Amino acid sequence: MPNTEPVPFFIPFTDSTEANAVLDTIQSHWLTSGPRCRKFEEALAAYVGPGVEVVTVNSATAGLHLALDAVGIGPGDEVLLPTLTFTATAEVVRYLGAVPVFVDVDPQTLNIDLAAAEAKVTNKSRAIMPVHFAGLPCNMNELGDLAARHNLHLIEDAAHALSASQGDKRIGAFESAATVFSFYANKTITTGEGGAVATRDPDLAKRMRVMRTHGIDRDVSERFRTSSWQYDVIAPGFKYNMTDIAAAMGIEQLKKADTARDLRHARAVSYLERLADLPLYLPAPGPNEDAHAWHIFPIRVKREAPVSRNELAAAFSKAKIGFSVHYRPLHQMSYWAEKFVSPQDSFPVADEHFDTTLSLPLFPGMTDAQQDRVVEVLRNCLKG
Ligand SMILES: *Cc1c(COP(=O)(O)O)cnc(C)c1O
Repeated sequence: MPNTEPVPFFIPFTDSTEANAVLDTIQSHWLTSGPRCRKFEEALAAYVGPGVEVVTVNSATAGLHLALDAVGIGPGDEVLLPTLTFTATAEVVRYLGAVPVFVDVDPQTLNIDLAAAEAKVTNKSRAIMPVHFAGLPCNMNELGDLAARHNLHLIEDAAHALSASQGDKRIGAFESAATVFSFYANKTITTGEGGAVATRDPDLAKRMRVMRTHGIDRDVSERFRTSSWQYDVIAPGFKYNMTDIAAAMGIEQLKKADTARDLRHARAVSYLERLADLPLYLPAPGPNEDAHAWHIFPIRVKREAPVSRNELAAAFSKAKIGFSVHYRPLHQMSYWAEKFVSPQDSFPVADEHFDTTLSLPLFPGMTDAQQDRVVEVLRNCLKG
């Protein structure tokens, strides 16, 4: 009997420890931000590296917004970001009335093309928001140099990249203003919905803590404070705090982050080996001294292949194998195209990527049988 079991695109890496931690939290009667959020923040800071402070939030989108607010981005400021990303990276720029400037990506790494970014710097440029695409770290030295040369705040969208490292540092520990992680259901670790911002700047951390809870500043009157109603409001802030229920799950997930990364890495290495002879561009594994988080495994179908990406997608659907496409570039989306792309802009790498890419199933608990099925369908389609 051939194996015809459906293969999901992703399954979260959870077991009874998350369930018990959530149950304990509910039974403790402290449900919103409290001791578990603080413990999760401390554990994340210890994980990311020395000198880092972590602010938990209810999504990476919230974290990106808080980070841009904290560095002072405002109306008319320009923020450079890759077009090959999720719309959240750009929408937070608009929350503040600032202007996203879309940049093409490097064909090998699929990370923001730094030469193209530099060519788009103007006297209104204030920040750059790189995305560590698929979990492959951007070149942090070159990014830091570019940001320093043009006086740009560097805010990393690390939604794919918790557990990635470059050299001896984890993503989150570099000299950027802030690094934002996502704990959405299919990210490298999950709290259902959630996110966190890592920063080495205590003033930025303080501003983000105030703005994540309505602009409420409890420090102002701390010396005199005797009860929770004694606080001040210093700005119209947001409602972005994480619950202790989510943090309880996050504490358990974080303990498994490196194991989960290693399991994804092993599957990625296996894909790279077993698909090497097919007419595909495979994702760059990055330098040996770096750790790729392998959040996703995006392949690209070569033009000379016997099937197109769409035909391959149809074959996956027929075989009940989950897949996704990361991403339709933002400059192709109606809102962004109409308002923030000019006729002389072009993004050939992201356009070509989108036409030919498909992300394969990849998750820590993936079995040999599941991976065998994915490889088999690919080989059948692409071997002619
Ligand atoms: C998932 C994702 C986000 C948003 O994360 P949320 O936690 O869902 O807000 C932002 N940027 C990128 C690149 C993402 O993949």
